[in-house]
Amino acid sequence: MARTYAPCGWLVERTVSWYDEETGDGEGYDVVEECGAAAVYTDRGFTCDAGHSHVTAEVRWNEGWDYAEDDGEALRLSRAGTEPRDFVTGGTYRGSLEAVYGTATAAALDTLDPPF
Ligand SMILES: [Zn+2]
Repeated sequence: MARTYAPCGWLVERTVSWYDEETGDGEGYDVVEECGAAAVYTDRGFTCDAGHSHVTAEVRWNEGWDYAEDDGEALRLSRAGTEPRDFVTGGTYRGSLEAVYGTATAAALDTLDPPF
């Protein structure tokens, strides 16, 4: 599988603040920028040193799973027969597993392998 190394393109929110000692003025504001950490890109997607991981939609579909941002989405995916995975890491969904799977199967999720 071909590997390419490039800065991570994952968008992250960061708070930038400034303060002027003479006037006492200052403020903080949020900016969205690319992560920029070292990342490895393959045919499957990419993973970076800061822990971001992304798998392409085609691969997710073929393997029967998709990203879930919250419990509601995880539950919707689960009911549709699609395995929900953590939106940031691509690993086991770490939201309210009991809400999604019930207590009996929540423990079994810990045995799942991450996509990389
Ligand atoms: Zn990243």
